[in-house]
Amino acid sequence: MSAQITLAHEAQLTAILERCHTAALDAGIPDSNALPEGFTGTLGHFPVYFPDEIAHAAGLLPVNILGGGNKLEMKHADSRMGSFICSICRSTTELGLNGTLAGLTGFVTHPICDAAKHLAGIWSRNLPDQMSEILYLPQNPNTPGAVRYIASEYQRLRAELARKVGHPISDAAIRSSIRLYNKKRRLMRDLYEIRREEPWKLSCSESYMLVRAGTRITCEEHIELLEQALDAIRHRHVAAQDKPRVIFVGGFCEQPPLEMLEAIDDACFIVDDDLLIGQRWLNKDVPEDVGDPIWALAESYIERSNASPVQHDERKPKSDYLMAMLRAAKADAAILTAAKFCEPGLDDQLFWSKDLDEAGVQYLVLEFEEKMTSFEQMSMQLETFAESLLFALA
Ligand code: SF4
Repeated sequence: MSAQITLAHEAQLTAILERCHTAALDAGIPDSNALPEGFTGTLGHFPVYFPDEIAHAAGLLPVNILGGGNKLEMKHADSRMGSFICSICRSTTELGLNGTLAGLTGFVTHPICDAAKHLAGIWSRNLPDQMSEILYLPQNPNTPGAVRYIASEYQRLRAELARKVGHPISDAAIRSSIRLYNKKRRLMRDLYEIRREEPWKLSCSESYMLVRAGTRITCEEHIELLEQALDAIRHRHVAAQDKPRVIFVGGFCEQPPLEMLEAIDDACFIVDDDLLIGQRWLNKDVPEDVGDPIWALAESYIERSNASPVQHDERKPKSDYLMAMLRAAKADAAILTAAKFCEPGLDDQLFWSKDLDEAGVQYLVLEFEEKMTSFEQMSMQLETFAESLLFALA
């Protein structure tokens, strides 16, 4: 491999990461007059999981609303919500009230927790021009009727979106969107494979930006960027550093600030994580050439999905999937995080600490808030943690 080709790949990767960074950290939504061909509007949805394929097939750009980050000034939301509500709910409300999300065709939330469930009500009262919906994904996916139930919810969403865009959403259009999203998910799985096998080639914060860009740009553009990025990453020549291998959990809904991930990257290789797990919820291809694509999506939600603290599937006990994640990533330790005031996240943090204690696996507990701006103390904690791991492993 000539040095020239390597430099060309590195320059290409830098350009892709810059594009992704700009798209990913934009709390706003694409201007409705500047949408790519084939799209007539944007549909906002709250984390964790949303069947993007249905919005895409309707000609709506699905936008995962991920809060306002650590630069948003709160002026309106505090008068609508208690101070004990997590940051992502408060900042999402602020973005709605301050006009940043005024161009959305609609906003869909899910009953993943009380705070998220009530967002839909706040939305419909304050932004009456937008469609405001709760997509009821099942709390108990183990009942025999779970797939039928989700399929009926997806059909309800499909009908609402069809009414909003003024035309039916055909099965063929959904099948074609499924094909596209399957490809995108395969590429994201490849990114994570590199993180597990050769983490020195791709940091967690870089991979995070590459994935998060997909919450703002079209699936078509995202696929193109991911394909080019993967090619460049595979050609990357980076020496492996002496850092412990850790997994990061707790980033399934509210997102930690990028600076926090960078601080962890400095001290450790993050070889797997649950960041933006909704984007990677389906871990195998959704069947593409089936009679009923809605059924295929609903069945995939149950049968081909990752675990998360907001889905209570008896087949995915909390300790099992954490241990499986540790084993598959050959990780030495875990970083257990939770967003401040996040009930599902804090619950699991407690379970996981107990399980790791019993298994004798080292871990570090961290709390975050999307609006955090100071990371010095956390960096010191991480440095000490990494040193103690390296010492124990030596
Ligand atoms: S961060 Fe936690 S509490 Fe807040 S909306 Fe998400 S799941 Fe609910």
